[in-house]
Amino acid sequence: MLKLYNTLTKSEELANFPSKEVKVYLCGPTVQSSPHIGHGRSAVVFDFLVRYLNYIGKEVVFARNITDIDDKIIEKSLEQGITYNELTSKVSQEFNEAYLALNCKIPNHEPKATESIEEIIDLIKLLENKEIAYQTSSGVYFDISKYDNYLELSGRSLEDLISGTRVDLVEDKKNNEDFALWKFAKENEPSWKSPWGLGRPGWHIECSAMIHGLFGNQGIDIHCGGNDLIFPHHENERAQSEAAFNKKFVNFWLHNGMVNLSGKKMSKSEGNIKLLSDYINMFDGNTIRYFFLRANYRKPQEFSENLLQESDKTFKNIINFIGDANSDPVDEHLIQLFEESMNDDLNTPKFVGEMFNYMKLSENQNEEKKLKIKSTIRYIFETLGFIFITNDKSQNEEIFKEFFIKYNIKFSNVDSAMSSYIELRQELRDKKEYESADNMRKDIESIGIIIEDGIESGWRWSTS
Ligand SMILES: [Zn+2]
Repeated sequence: MLKLYNTLTKSEELANFPSKEVKVYLCGPTVQSSPHIGHGRSAVVFDFLVRYLNYIGKEVVFARNITDIDDKIIEKSLEQGITYNELTSKVSQEFNEAYLALNCKIPNHEPKATESIEEIIDLIKLLENKEIAYQTSSGVYFDISKYDNYLELSGRSLEDLISGTRVDLVEDKKNNEDFALWKFAKENEPSWKSPWGLGRPGWHIECSAMIHGLFGNQGIDIHCGGNDLIFPHHENERAQSEAAFNKKFVNFWLHNGMVNLSGKKMSKSEGNIKLLSDYINMFDGNTIRYFFLRANYRKPQEFSENLLQESDKTFKNIINFIGDANSDPVDEHLIQLFEESMNDDLNTPKFVGEMFNYMKLSENQNEEKKLKIKSTIRYIFETLGFIFITNDKSQNEEIFKEFFIKYNIKFSNVDSAMSSYIELRQELRDKKEYESADNMRKDIESIGIIIEDGIESGWRWSTS
C-alpha cells in the first residue's frame, strides 16, 4: 500500500484514498521570469506522483495554478517597459514549453489568478461575514487569532515569527502576522473592482479560492508544492479555507526539497545563470527527469552541469541496455521492487539502486530472462513518464498518442498526426511566432521525428 509523508502530521501515512478519483493540487509558478531548474524539479517529482497514482488505478484530477499577478510581476513589467500581461503571457509560454519538453502530464485544470477574481472576492466576502477578515487602509486582512490551528502545518511558533520573519508592516493590522487577502491598488497598478475598492488579490487567497472553485468545499486529497511554500503560503491557505468552511482542507500535504547549486555558484554577478530551457536544449527531457528520479523528492538535491552529464550518460546506458525490447511488465521481481520503493513515499532512488543491482545479477542469466528484465525496465520507465523510441515504429503508438495530445491532436497514425502538427506549426510561423514554432520542432525530436524547413520541407524519422 502506498504511504506518503504528510508535512502536517510529520509522518508517513497510509494513502488510503476512499474513492477512485484523487484530487491533487500543485502550487504552480509565479510567472515573473523564465523557469529555472528548481521549477523543473517540482513539476517532475509531482508528475511521478500523478503517474504512480494512475498506475495503482486511481483517476487523478490534477490542478496546477498560474500566479499571474503579484508585486514582482508588476515590478518586473515596469522595469521592462511592458504591461503585466505581456510579461505573464510570455513567461507562461516558457513554462508550458518546459513542461512539455520534460513530458509532464498536462493538468486537468490550470487556473490563472486573474481569471479567478470572482471566486477570490466571494471567499473574502465569506471570511468577512464570519468576522475573520477585516478592512484596513491598505487592504483586507485575515485575522489569525480567529483560526485555532494556525502554525500547525509549519510547526512554527508566534515568537519565531515575530523575531524571524518579514511581516507586512501595516500599522492598523490587528495582529502583526495577519496577512493580506486583498491589496488596494496604488497609482498605475493593475487593479480589479471589489466591494472594498479597486485592488488585487493577495497571493495565498488565490490558491484557496481556486481549490474551492474547482473541487468544492469538501477538501482535497493531496496538496503539493516546494517546501519553501510551507510558510507562509500553505499555512495561510489552510487557515483561510478551514476558517471559511469548517472542513478539513487537505488530507496530505506533500513538499519537495530545493535544488542546491553545487560547485560553482550560479549568480547574476558571475553571469552564469542558466535557465531550465538551456539544460533542456543541452540534454533532453529524459535526462532531466532521470536526474530528478535519482534523488529523494523531499530532500535537497545537489545540482551541477557535471551531475546532469552523469545522469545523461547513465540514462543512455539504460536505453542501450533495453535496446529493442518491448514494454512489458513480465519480471515479477522487478515489478515488486518498483512497487515497494514507490509505496515507500515515492522512494525513486531506492528503486534505481535496486534496479542496477538486479541488472548486474542478470549478466549471467540466459537471454530469455534478460529480455524479460529489459522489457520490464522499459515498462517501469514508461510508467514514470520517460519516452523510449524503438526502431520498430509500430511499438510506439502509446508514446505518439501521448505526445500529440499535448497539442490537441488526436492520434490515429503518424502521417495524419504529422500533417496536423506541421499545419499548427505553420500557423505560428505565419503569425511570426518563430520561437514557438522552433520549440515545436525541438519538441518533436523527443519522439524521433526531424522537421526540415526549406525547399524540401517536411518531416522524416531521425533513425532512417
Ligand atoms: Zn499556492
